[in-house]
Amino acid sequence: MPATALHRYLIALGSNVRHPRHGAPAQVLRAAARALDDAGLALQAFSPIIASAPLGPSRRRYANACAVIATRLDPPQLLAQLQGLEHRFGRVRRGAPWRARTLDLDIVLWSGGALADIHANLVIPHPAFRQRPFVIGPALHVAPDWRDPLTGLATKHLASRLTRRRPAPR
Ligand code: ADP
Ligand code: MG
Repeated sequence: MPATALHRYLIALGSNVRHPRHGAPAQVLRAAARALDDAGLALQAFSPIIASAPLGPSRRRYANACAVIATRLDPPQLLAQLQGLEHRFGRVRRGAPWRARTLDLDIVLWSGGALADIHANLVIPHPAFRQRPFVIGPALHVAPDWRDPLTGLATKHLASRLTRRRPAPR
């Protein structure tokens, strides 16, 4: 694959902490989408923002969304860029309440298929995405026909599989 190839990525965004400037979690996600675009990761689609239940013992509700972006960055480069953005948004990793996070950006799928990069600590497809309604729901709006390379199922198939099985594991 040429180094300059344009890749498409499906990104999952999550937030459950207010940002002092941007405001409530949904506003954090809107600001993050703008920041992605400003960083040269061309935003091709942005899903509706949903509210989802807290994870684990946290009592903070999440705002979740999915974006499709196009960029020449390869997966490890993109992960580094996303982590830089998480830090810019003041994500707290240590000493914070359980799973309190201003911004979480995960790579769910990319146009290159399946990938496991031990050095970058990166696995695509994101290992948990098929079971997560808060990823599949927004993804259905922006990438309904995008196929998971491991199961061969499109997002819309994963969605109907999830809604048939309730309650879904997180
Ligand atoms: P969470 O799993 O809740 O998103 P973090 O955002 O703290 O937790 O991510 C933990 C680690 O997951 C990161 O250091 C990153 O290297 C790794 N990781 C592995 N695969 C992915 C992926 N597809 N997207 C984002 N991060 C990933
Ligand atoms: Mg993450």
